[in-house]
Amino acid sequence: MLAFQANLSNERTPISFRYDPKFDHKPEILMLPTRGYATNAATLPLEPFSFDRREPRAHDVLIEIMYCGVCHSDIHSARNEWGGTLYPLVPGHEIVGRVVRVGSEVTRFAAGDIAGVGCFVDSCRECDSCRAGEEQYCKRHLVMTYNSFENDRQTPTYGGYSSQIVVDENYVLEIPDNLPLEGVAPLLCAGITTYSPLRRFKVGPGQRVGVVGLGGLGHMAVKLAAAMGAHVTVLSTSISKEADARRLGAHDFVVTRDPKNLAPLAGQFDFIIDTVSAPHDLNAELGLLGRHGVMVLVGASPEPAAVGAFSLIMNGRVLAGSLIGGIRETQEMLNYCSEHGITSDVEVIPIQDIESAYDRTVKGDVRYRFVIDMKSLQ
Ligand code: NAP
Ligand code: ZN
Repeated sequence: MLAFQANLSNERTPISFRYDPKFDHKPEILMLPTRGYATNAATLPLEPFSFDRREPRAHDVLIEIMYCGVCHSDIHSARNEWGGTLYPLVPGHEIVGRVVRVGSEVTRFAAGDIAGVGCFVDSCRECDSCRAGEEQYCKRHLVMTYNSFENDRQTPTYGGYSSQIVVDENYVLEIPDNLPLEGVAPLLCAGITTYSPLRRFKVGPGQRVGVVGLGGLGHMAVKLAAAMGAHVTVLSTSISKEADARRLGAHDFVVTRDPKNLAPLAGQFDFIIDTVSAPHDLNAELGLLGRHGVMVLVGASPEPAAVGAFSLIMNGRVLAGSLIGGIRETQEMLNYCSEHGITSDVEVIPIQDIESAYDRTVKGDVRYRFVIDMKSLQ
């Protein structure tokens, strides 16, 4: 999800930045030896990689990473499918771990706390998006967890497929203590990416919601929309996922490969969330929306999609997009999941299995999120 933003803003090349005194951050001083897994090119596998992180500064938290989810965005980025990947790339932005050290000014965390880190680790803090708590839409510089630069504009960020991470406490999430941590990790991306548009478009009881694609994001969308009281239909290419879809909370399941299955659903949905990672026909999905129905794209196919004017004109439909969520809303989502007992269905893997996990995810063969047990990094 994150590399395409870097592309658009051209922020991946430090020398291209216009000088802005507010961003004249001191270069990072990197002294904390860290182990991870990285890839050096689109066609190369991930392999062990050593690098240094900064010593925690006054507002920083040092987190020993316990679990890191495997998001399809990690795969798009590692394989440079969106373009603009910075190598070496240490992916991973669904991070849960234990705080081992905090800086002198840190107030929200102490050593021993369980903490989370999602898709970004800093932002400008001053633009209207940051002030509105929607740091993901920072106008100046969103410091993404990987494939990005720190606010010094020259230190590359490395993600959660690693032993530890240092993050300013304002960008660290508090993790509820009643949920299994391996199932919590994917909430930091898949959870917030689906929760945020469900809230923004006020999905609730009496509404008919379609979830397109039952993968990492899709299965969270099903759980969350069902918990919010909507009537949920999964629209999937995989006939084998029907029983799971119903167990996750879906009321109906439709196999989209056969257009005959969609005909009776024309105009039936109030809201559709599309989580598909590859090119597919958006017009067929838009046709399922009723009057003023909304379809939100969160899936980030590397290929552009053709949308027919009449797909939107008829029924006055809305096609929207959404990028993860801000820190405040991410904490709200974690608290909501704690209250409702919602976590991700995960398959825990050692990091040595990452390549086969990527291949299985691309084939749609993930039930429903791979999560790396970082103990395997020893
Ligand atoms: P995932 O686990 O691989 O799930 C994607 C699902 O899409 C698959 O399980 C499959 O479900 C369906 N699918 C795959 N190829 C398809 C095709 N050719 N035609 C139709 N359906 C297909 O991936 P994910 O981690 O959930 O991520 C999904 C997408 O969201 C990725 O592009 C990712 O980069 C993006 N993303 C965006 C944001 C954001 O902020 N907007 C955040 C995170 C991720 P079925 O088997 O049910 O058909
Ligand atoms: Zn993600």
